[in-house]
Amino acid sequence: MARIAYVNGEYLPETEAKVSIFDRGFLFADGVYEVTPVINGKLVDYDPHMERLDRSLSELKMAWPCSKEELTKVHTEIIARNSLTEGIIYMQVTRGVADRMFNFPKDIKSSLVAFPQVMKLVDNPNAKTGVKVVTTPDIRWLRRDIKSIMLLAPVLGKQDAYEKGAAEGWMVEDGYITEGTSSNAYIVIGNKIITRPLSNRIRAGCTRRALFRLAKDHAVEIEERLFTPEEAYKADEAFLTSASQFVMPITEIDGHRIGGGQVGPVVRKLRELFLEEATR
Ligand code: PMP
Repeated sequence: MARIAYVNGEYLPETEAKVSIFDRGFLFADGVYEVTPVINGKLVDYDPHMERLDRSLSELKMAWPCSKEELTKVHTEIIARNSLTEGIIYMQVTRGVADRMFNFPKDIKSSLVAFPQVMKLVDNPNAKTGVKVVTTPDIRWLRRDIKSIMLLAPVLGKQDAYEKGAAEGWMVEDGYITEGTSSNAYIVIGNKIITRPLSNRIRAGCTRRALFRLAKDHAVEIEERLFTPEEAYKADEAFLTSASQFVMPITEIDGHRIGGGQVGPVVRKLRELFLEEATR
């Protein structure tokens, strides 16, 4: 069945949902996006996603395409019109449509597009076995804190990982892991979680933020510092977080088995806690 998408004020079947060839998202990747999970027909952790959208837009001096209330309505309408029970809502804002020029065109309206994607988030079979990751060079620009639609480096990194039989690529810069191509990266040593501190080098994941809250509530220590692939190979456990994967265990990094190739207790517990909250 054709999905119903939202394009600049209209809800349309996906085959009719079109944007201009002059849209600056298409020409320059001049736009930002958000992906919000949906479980049991309800948005999960919606407010942090909208806060991050607000920041991404302001860092790029881009106008909101509509009011915050209207954008919430777009999300809830997409769920209703598609009878979406579990999956994600993708939305992007671009600077708008104008003749091709690098500088910002004057007085154009930003464009807004949103659509759903059905996905199994809760019963993701990968969560039982854990996934493999491989390291790959981080060749991105230096404003990774902005959730820009300019995703060619992550596309190449993810493809590199897939071709090596892995589910995710952990990107490496100056000898340290920055993050996954579309997720944040963590190792566990003993009962302590280690992850890179926020900066312009990584994305401030909404799932990362939720994880920090859950860890604090359950007395799990988190240390924010850089770590190398070599340290990760020897970790007791490893995992990644993202809006579509929540807390996903990792059982192999660059061919090194983590935790004997089994999902470990800290990661298992954190995923359980996350799902408990998200499905409540
Ligand atoms: N880092 C990168 C590079 C990402 O693309 C994503 C997912 N968009 C994340 C981290 C995780 O962010 P979130 O938990 O908000 O999905």
